[in-house]
Amino acid sequence: NYHFFHFLISHAKNYGFVFPSSEIYGGLHAIYDYGQYGIELKNNIKEYWWKSMTQLHENIVGIDTSILMHSDIWKASGHIEKFNDFLIDNKDSKKRYCPEILIREYVNLMNNKNKGHLINIPKEKILFRMYQSLKKKDLLDIRVLIDELNIPDPICGSHNWTNIRLFNMMFKIEEEKGNLLYLRPETAQGIFSNFLNIKNSSRMKIPFGIAQIGKSFRNEIIARKFIFRMREFEQMEMQFFILPEEEMKWYEYWKKNRLKWHLELNLGNKKYQIRDHEQLAHYASIGSDIEFNFPFGFKEIEGIHSRRDFDLKQHEKFSKKKLRVFGKKKMIGNYIPYVIETSLGLDRLFLAILYSSLKKEKLENGNERIVLKFPPYLSPIKAAVFPLVLKDGLPEIAKRIFNNLKIDYQLVYDQKKSIGKLYRRQDAIGTPLCFTIDYDTIKTNTVTMRDRDSMKQKRIHIKDISKIIEYKTGI
Ligand code: ATP
Repeated sequence: NYHFFHFLISHAKNYGFVFPSSEIYGGLHAIYDYGQYGIELKNNIKEYWWKSMTQLHENIVGIDTSILMHSDIWKASGHIEKFNDFLIDNKDSKKRYCPEILIREYVNLMNNKNKGHLINIPKEKILFRMYQSLKKKDLLDIRVLIDELNIPDPICGSHNWTNIRLFNMMFKIEEEKGNLLYLRPETAQGIFSNFLNIKNSSRMKIPFGIAQIGKSFRNEIIARKFIFRMREFEQMEMQFFILPEEEMKWYEYWKKNRLKWHLELNLGNKKYQIRDHEQLAHYASIGSDIEFNFPFGFKEIEGIHSRRDFDLKQHEKFSKKKLRVFGKKKMIGNYIPYVIETSLGLDRLFLAILYSSLKKEKLENGNERIVLKFPPYLSPIKAAVFPLVLKDGLPEIAKRIFNNLKIDYQLVYDQKKSIGKLYRRQDAIGTPLCFTIDYDTIKTNTVTMRDRDSMKQKRIHIKDISKIIEYKTGI
């Protein structure tokens, strides 16, 4: 898996899906750019999610809020006070580390040394000890913590560590001297702060939802899993406003609905699992993660939480505006609705799709082909059109067919190489269909259609091309 993951990263770069940001300057830690095919795939994923939320639910509308917001929003939401991670620096290398991961690495080292007598210290215990110790004293030496946890110290003492400290993960921007703005660490607050606007400008009644796709920023300490954990990433979030007493009903509904949505992508049912939270974010009361089996194991791809009335209540307090709805039947009078949130990482879903689709296949003639078997409706390019040879009017016919179809579909026209090589290239970027124009086309108005997955070829009539692309790649 490790090798395959590296192969995936280089394939993503070589074929225009994902590039390291600022690469000509040596790159920027945990920041990536999407290339010519990456952006098409990403846009298709966004559209698929957007439609399934807003078009298929009459009671969910979309919104697009700003990345920069009034800094009181982050006071109210608790992010200024609580959106922290533990951090430790190595004084010599000047690199920053996550102390909990460091300690777990020490434990593994010890376990490898003394086989037979294994130590097991759960992540929660390490975090709990760090919180406890940091509450008592402001500074915490990692050697003291290791001692407290009863781990024999193999090599820790030989490193030059700073104290462990808490570090706020929001990026700060200086608006003017002494006045800070924050890059949003979640898109949700743009939804909460517009709750009144949406309620007053639409005619929706509880229960209703607000969906948003947008960039979020977190100054992550450990970020080395390609686009899985980035410092600038995109979220697809939906906040669903409900009657407080219907919290469990809607929590269960969205948990089920979201898992079903993932399964319908057909990446493989066994690749998903649900993990109910023990440790909750500061705003949540119940929550679970939909986890996907990435090359580095099962990890969160989407979170479903009940945020109850935490955010709206806090915004009422800080903004002094009433963020309530008027209840009739079950709730009498004004009340603050509860909120069920579904929060999906677009880049993580992109990675899940790329990883599940990328295949190395042995062919009958002994050769190997690399193919991206994307769900066809998500493929960056829907079909490619080639002339078999560059003479006798074939390129002109191919170009005419291409021009007629390109209004409706994202297509590629290519004529530079041999047909075999052209097919391989389309396989490598995941194009589901290729159409080749040859001498028979002149006589019979038919072309060769080649299918990405089966590699089978078939003759079809020119007038059927559009219908076939629609049938194969429509949602
Ligand atoms: P993790 O535990 O992996 O850090 P989280 O619990 O902090 O994730 P949430 O705050 O629930 O994540 O964010 C919702 C979703 O946003 C996650 O399920 C994930 O898909 C995505 N996400 C969060 N942080 C990142 C990141 N640094 N890079 C890419 N996607 C992210």
